[in-house]
Amino acid sequence: MKLAQNISPSLVNNIKTCSLRWCYSQLRVPKIPVYVKEADFGISGHSAIKKYFESISNKPTEKEIRQTAENAFGVVTSMKTKLRRSIDNFVNFEISRLRTWQIYKPKLVEAHLKNTPEEIYRKVNFMPPVGFKSIVDFYGSGILIDWKFGEVDHITDLFQFQLGFMTMQLEWSGNPVNKAYLVSLVSGQILEQPQTTESWVIYNIKNILGQIESNDFRPNKCGLCNYCEYKLRCDLQCQYLCMNG
Ligand code: SF4
Repeated sequence: MKLAQNISPSLVNNIKTCSLRWCYSQLRVPKIPVYVKEADFGISGHSAIKKYFESISNKPTEKEIRQTAENAFGVVTSMKTKLRRSIDNFVNFEISRLRTWQIYKPKLVEAHLKNTPEEIYRKVNFMPPVGFKSIVDFYGSGILIDWKFGEVDHITDLFQFQLGFMTMQLEWSGNPVNKAYLVSLVSGQILEQPQTTESWVIYNIKNILGQIESNDFRPNKCGLCNYCEYKLRCDLQCQYLCMNG
């Protein structure tokens, strides 16, 4: 299959979670729309954080942090219990940053980073068929933060890849990363990225590109199936393959 979109952490996540589902989406197989409230919650939460940093002053008081967060998250209307926990954890995290960081306001918030194949070739001597892109939630004082609105209790390989990919792109754009954290706002967990090399990130990208080129797409029956827009098609196809060996 020919790749028609840039390589991003979410593309790699989608292929690694269920490559068949990703393949269906690329082939524009008709889908049955499914409303996933957790996804909706995550999107609204990220918009709220962006709004928060647009509104907060350079040197806020703790009271201002609380008030600005309440106002910004006011647009989120779903999952009330998780929302309350997320606001409280966000406020605690920000107050802690205010007390310990010299510069409070981040340099980048929800920033879109892109690299062309030519740029990538110059950096790592490897020319992919498409460019790289990602959205960085937060970068400031040499620290990258990825906010999560789901329950996360450890750094999986996929999260490590995601942080490593964004670290690589930030450094290529002249923004050195000393540390990278995944902050789960629902649980309050702060997880630090394990040591990740650029060559490991590129190795994973090459593997994914190889899988796409060889049309190696398989179903991965998992929790995601309950929310999958292609479940009917997938179940029928799997039954057909079973019946026909
Ligand atoms: S139903 Fe499950 S296995 Fe089938 S495509 Fe969807 S996510 Fe993949």
